[in-house]
Amino acid sequence: MLRWLDVLTFAKYSNPEPPRRVEKTAAEWAAELTPAQFRVLREQATEPPYRNAYCRSYEPGRYECVGCRSLLFDSATKYHAISGWPSFTQPAAKSAIRYHFDDSHNMQRVEVRCNVCGGHLGHVFPDGPAPAGLRYCINSESLVRVEENGILF
Ligand SMILES: [Zn+2]
Repeated sequence: MLRWLDVLTFAKYSNPEPPRRVEKTAAEWAAELTPAQFRVLREQATEPPYRNAYCRSYEPGRYECVGCRSLLFDSATKYHAISGWPSFTQPAAKSAIRYHFDDSHNMQRVEVRCNVCGGHLGHVFPDGPAPAGLRYCINSESLVRVEENGILF
């Protein structure tokens, strides 16, 4: 179980080694992603709160990166954070996510990215539920939910 000190240690010193790497040019990403997905994943944009696909969705399944289809989160760790974005308490695996300090918008935050393709996902905050106390606040545009039978939603 990851805790805030683990997050800070990753961001400050060294992120977990990814299981594989996917690297593409901006033009290649633009050709594969929708404009909204591209703005979030490759330009660090934030989608509107509440008006996004998975904010209120609690169906079982796993959430993959829409850019490279790496497993990021499991629905078992999704919870209602009243933030307007899908929120999770833990990543599916320690190596799924990389962390970077983000001082933009006059805030000190920790950005989370897909560890395989580097796509921007959102931020993680130390105000999540016990026991770990983490809140991964993620843009729906960066995710695709996959049910156990492999069907996409
Ligand atoms: Zn990815």
